[in-house]
Amino acid sequence: VGAPELAARLAELVGPVNVLVDDDVRTGFDRDWTGTWQGRSLAVVRPGTTEEVAAVVRCCAEAGVAVVPQGGNTGLVGGAVPSGGSVLLSTTRLRRLDPVDPVSSQVTVGAGVSIAQLHAHAGEAGLAYGVDWGARDSATVGGSVATNAGGLRVLRYGDTRAQLRGLEWVTASGQVVTRLDGLVKDNTGPFLPALLAGSEGTLGVITAARLQLVPQLPERVTALVAVDGIAEAVQVVARVRASTPSLEAAELVLRDGIDLVTGHLGLGLPFDRVPEAAVLLECADRHDPTEDLATALAGCPEVLDAAVATEPGPAAALWRLREAHTEVLASLGPPLKLDVSVAPDRLAPFTADLLAALAERVPASRPVLFGHIGDGNVHVNVLGVDPLDHDVAGLVLGVVARHRGSISAEHGIGRAKREWLHLTRSPAEIELLRAIKAALDPKGLLNPGVLFPG
Ligand SMILES: Cc1cc2nc3c(=O)[nH]c(=O)nc-3n(C[C@H](O)[C@H](O)[C@H](O)COP(=O)(O)OP(=O)(O)OC[C@H]3O[C@@H](n4cnc5c(N)ncnc54)[C@H](O)[C@@H]3O)c2cc1C
Repeated sequence: VGAPELAARLAELVGPVNVLVDDDVRTGFDRDWTGTWQGRSLAVVRPGTTEEVAAVVRCCAEAGVAVVPQGGNTGLVGGAVPSGGSVLLSTTRLRRLDPVDPVSSQVTVGAGVSIAQLHAHAGEAGLAYGVDWGARDSATVGGSVATNAGGLRVLRYGDTRAQLRGLEWVTASGQVVTRLDGLVKDNTGPFLPALLAGSEGTLGVITAARLQLVPQLPERVTALVAVDGIAEAVQVVARVRASTPSLEAAELVLRDGIDLVTGHLGLGLPFDRVPEAAVLLECADRHDPTEDLATALAGCPEVLDAAVATEPGPAAALWRLREAHTEVLASLGPPLKLDVSVAPDRLAPFTADLLAALAERVPASRPVLFGHIGDGNVHVNVLGVDPLDHDVAGLVLGVVARHRGSISAEHGIGRAKREWLHLTRSPAEIELLRAIKAALDPKGLLNPGVLFPG
């Protein structure tokens, strides 16, 4: 069928107002927020219920047209950008927000609910959601499951997969699978929702998720700690983690990034001089954790200086230094963006090798590294090169592989890293991943070109 006929059929299923075909309107959906990835959809369709999602997927399957799911479009690997000739399925109208179950501390929410809305909803019930990151206002629950988002509190609560108690999704053939009862114990074979976590829209369209919530911890302390380098930063985190169960976040920023962000946004730094590295630590508890953190830091000879905030305003100012990295870099670039992880004790040698390799092989490059140090996770941003520079990406990921790390810590593979999947996954694993894809989506109509080349 031609595009107009398909659009007309889709309009019958979800209403004409929810099928967008005008070039101007589609532009925002067809490119990612950095502008690096640009696609072209046949139409953008916005189903409002699970049944409508299923009908859309069936309609596209019958027409032999691929479907690209998109949530908040905050992904960083081009995974939600449509390949040519596909229908972009936006989940933002799937806004189911069930009451929080106070007995199990769980909640069922629609795929299109934003992470910020989920936080607010859990908060109204006196609970909290354990996963959080900078794009919380736009990123959706469905997208976070599809990418298995990590973020700022993984060291305490784990990634999105760890919160997943159930899922509802639509298969490639348009069937609805509902597993939302939230049973904590249910060993009746493999837990299928986990298969969808990190599947990046290639195995099914997620319509709702059943998520574990955690206790609200109202007392917080945030500290920005100056140290001499990454090895010292790793030591500080190791010591604080071992002695302070309330530790919730441990983030790393480095001199270049600090200079960039403070210079660009006119932010002040609470130190006399710019340190080589700084660790942002946050503890949360029912009782004021300031004393615990202070005691832990007093036991760290690596600490050169520290700024401590116990009130939300000053704490937000410390966080701004870390969280503003992404937006400042985007405004200068976009940079070549990679998101990698290594075992924490390899962070220092890995970054030293990486910076040496870039300085030698790509002298014009300006790398800015930061990330979730508690998880061995470094966001590698390279300014001064093309954001899609294949050789530079290969160079960085080669260093990661030599340090036995992962070429994608939390952003996924998408289109950006698919050709390097073999650096992180063995041939046997890739064969299994392809077999799963072939079994669940035999016609290859769900987000083709993502995760695997071709
Ligand atoms: C400032 C900023 C900071 C960030 N920090 C972090 C961070 O700390 N940790 C982290 O993990 N990520 C981070 N990200 C990346 C991004 O926010 C996450 O990957 C997020 O989970 C994407 O959610 P989304 O709704 O925007 O998904 P999209 O970008 O719309 O889609 C991402 C992928 O998921 C698929 N998808 C989306 N919805 C569905 C669905 N309902 N069913 C099936 N597949 C679907 C898409 O096809 C695509 O492959 C950051 C992004 C920004 C802009």
